[in-house]
Amino acid sequence: MTRRLAKPSRKPAESGLVRLGLGTPWQCVLHLPLRYEDESRVTPIGDLTPGDHALTEGRLVHGEVRLRPRRQWIGKVRDEQGGELTVRLIHFSNAQLQALPVGSWLRVYGEVRGSLFGREMIHPRLRVSEPGAATRAGLTAVYPTVAGVAQPTLRRAVAAAFAKLDWADTLDEPTRRRLHVPPLREALARLHYPQTVPSADDPAWQRVRFDELLAQRLSLRLARRQRASRVAVSLAPPAADRLVAALRRALPFALTGAQQRAWQAIETDLARPQPMQRLLQGDVGSGKTIVAALACLRAVENSRQAALMAPTELLAEQHLAKFRQWLEPLGVRVAGLSGGQKKAERERLTAAVAAGEVDVVVGTHALFQKGVDFRALAVVVVDEQHRFGVAQRLSLAGKGEGVHSLMMSATPIPRTLAMSYYADLDVSVIDELPPGRSPIETRVIGNPRRDEVIAKLAQACGDGHQVYWVCPLVEESDVLQLKAATDAFEELRQRHPELRFGLVHGRMTAIDKATVMAAFQRHEVDWLVATTVIEVGVDVPNATWMVIEHSERLGLAQLHQLRGRVGRGPRQSYCVLLFEPGLSESARKRLEIIRNSTDGFEIARRDLELRGPGELLGKSQSGQPLLRFADPDRDHVLLEQAAQLAEAWIAGDNPAVSVHLDRWLGERQAFWRS
Ligand code: ADP
Ligand code: MG
Repeated sequence: MTRRLAKPSRKPAESGLVRLGLGTPWQCVLHLPLRYEDESRVTPIGDLTPGDHALTEGRLVHGEVRLRPRRQWIGKVRDEQGGELTVRLIHFSNAQLQALPVGSWLRVYGEVRGSLFGREMIHPRLRVSEPGAATRAGLTAVYPTVAGVAQPTLRRAVAAAFAKLDWADTLDEPTRRRLHVPPLREALARLHYPQTVPSADDPAWQRVRFDELLAQRLSLRLARRQRASRVAVSLAPPAADRLVAALRRALPFALTGAQQRAWQAIETDLARPQPMQRLLQGDVGSGKTIVAALACLRAVENSRQAALMAPTELLAEQHLAKFRQWLEPLGVRVAGLSGGQKKAERERLTAAVAAGEVDVVVGTHALFQKGVDFRALAVVVVDEQHRFGVAQRLSLAGKGEGVHSLMMSATPIPRTLAMSYYADLDVSVIDELPPGRSPIETRVIGNPRRDEVIAKLAQACGDGHQVYWVCPLVEESDVLQLKAATDAFEELRQRHPELRFGLVHGRMTAIDKATVMAAFQRHEVDWLVATTVIEVGVDVPNATWMVIEHSERLGLAQLHQLRGRVGRGPRQSYCVLLFEPGLSESARKRLEIIRNSTDGFEIARRDLELRGPGELLGKSQSGQPLLRFADPDRDHVLLEQAAQLAEAWIAGDNPAVSVHLDRWLGERQAFWRS
C-alpha cells in the first residue's frame, strides 16, 4: 500500500471515536457502512464504468508532476488489452512518488470518472503488484468518518464491539417472522461483513430501520406519557361562559367547521387536570390565530395567564395588534414582550407579568428567557412551531411544569411525518379555509417581462389594492439581500412616484419594521418591498398581489408561505413568480408544482419527494440525531408496524422497552426526558 497512514496511537484514535459518537459498543455496531469496496474482482480498464468504485490494474507507462492549473501528479496506467486510465494525485509526497516508478505494475482502486481524455481516477488507492496477483475475498466496509479517524480504526472498533455485546434480541421470533426481518445480530453482521452488497431493501436494512423507528416512537411516547402524568390546572368553561363566548359574539365572522372542531378538542384538553399537548396544523390563512386567542381567553376566564410565542419580532408585533383588537374590548390586559424593548420598559412589563397585572403576554422566545416569571401561567401557545425545532419544543414543555401547551404550524406535513416526529403530541387539523376566498392565480414569468409585471401592479395599486414585492436571498448574506431589496425599492419608487412605497428587511429594528407593517396594514402604504422576513404569518387582507423576484432560489415551503400572504380577502389575488431564464431542472419542477397547486399538503408531499424529510422540517430539526437510517415516508409500512409494537410494549410494561432504548439512544435518552 503506497498511501501511508501514520499509525495513530491508541489515545487520539479513541477520542476520535468519541467525537464520532462511538463511545459505547452499541454505538459502534450501529455505525453502519456508507458503502463497500469490492477488491475481489479486477475489472479491465476498458470495462470501467464512470460512477462505479472498482479495482483495476495495469502498468504505469508515464508519470509526471504538473504545476498548472495546480500542482498535481498525473500518471497513465495501461493494461494488457490496451485500455488506458489516467490517475491524478493532488496531494502527494516525494516518498510516495518514489514508490511509484514508471514501469511498475499497479493495482488501482477508486471511483471511476469519465473525462474528456478517457477514464480517470482521482486519488485512488495504489498498490504495486504483479499481473495476476490474488485478490482479497469479500467486501470491505467503508464507514462514515471524520478527519483523524481512519477506516482501520473504525473496523477494529466495530469488530471489538461485535465480540463484546450481549445480543439478546428485543424482537421475538414470531415478531421477526411477521416483519420478515432477521435477528439483529445477523442483520448487523450482514451489513458490516457482507459477501455481496446488500440492496437498499435487504432484510438486514429493514431490520435496522424498523428498530430505529421503534426506538424513536418509544422515546416520544414515553416523553408524552411522562408529561401526561404531570398535573395541570383544569381550565373548565366557567358557569357563565364569559370571555370566550363574548369574543365569538364580537367577531365579524363565524368560525369554520374545522376551526370549531379544533376548538372543541382544545376546550376538552384544557378542562382536564393534565397538561394539554396539542399540535394545531392548518394551512396558511386557515385561521389558527383566532383559535389560539380562544385558548388564551379560557385561561383568563379562570383567573390565569396565557402566553403566545412567535418566531419573529414582526409576527409577534402583528399578533399583539390582533390580540389587542380582539381582547382589550373585553377588559383583558394584553402586553407584548420583545427583545428590542428598552431595558426600563422590559423591566416594567416583566414586573407586571410577575404581579399578575397582565393577563396575556405576546412575544418572541424572549418570553421564555430568564427573568420572566409568570404569576399564574396556564396556557402557552407556540405559533409556527416548526421554526423552533424538536429540542426547543421539548425544553419548553419541560419548563412550564403543568402548563397546557398548544403548538401551531402552517407547514402541513404528511401523516407519516407527523406520526414520526410528533408522536408525543395530539394533532388537530384545520383543513378548510374561511369562506369567500377565491383561489390565488399563480403565474410563472421570466425576468425579461418584469416591466409588464410592474405596470400591472401599479394599476392594481391605482385601483385601491395593495401589493407585495419580495426580493429573496441573493446569497447566504444579509447584506446582499438587503441591497437587493433596497435597490428594488429605490427603482420602483422612482418609476411610480404617485404610489406610496414601504420597505422592510431583516436589518431594521423591530420597531421600525412594525411601524412599516402597521402603515401597510392601515393602507398608508400601497406597495411593500421586502426581503423574505414577511414570510410567516403576516395578514393584510387587502393585499392582492405577491411578486417574488428570483423565485427559482426559494424552496417550495417558503414559496407557499409567501404566496399565502395574499388571497386573504374576498378579491381575486395573484402571485407572480419571476425567474431568471436558464432554470435548473429542480427549480423548474418547484415552480411547476407551486403553479399547479395551492394545497399545502400536496405541496409538502411533493417537497418531501424532492428533498427528503430533514429539510422539510427545517434545519433545527434535521440536525437532530433522530433518524439516520429510516425515512418515515419511504418506510411508512415499517413505521405503522413500529408504532403498533411500541404501543403494545408500553401498555404491557415490556422490559424490552428500556433494553431497546438503551441500545439505540443510550445517553441521548436524557434529552427526551427533559
Ligand atoms: P393562519 O392560520 O395562517 O395563522 P390567520 O389566523 O392569520 O391564519 O387568519 C387569516 C385571516 O382569516 C385573518 O384575517 C383572520 O382574521 C381571518 N379569519 C380567520 N377565521 C375566519 C373565519 N372563520 N371566517 C372569516 N375569516 C376568518
Ligand atoms: Mg399564523
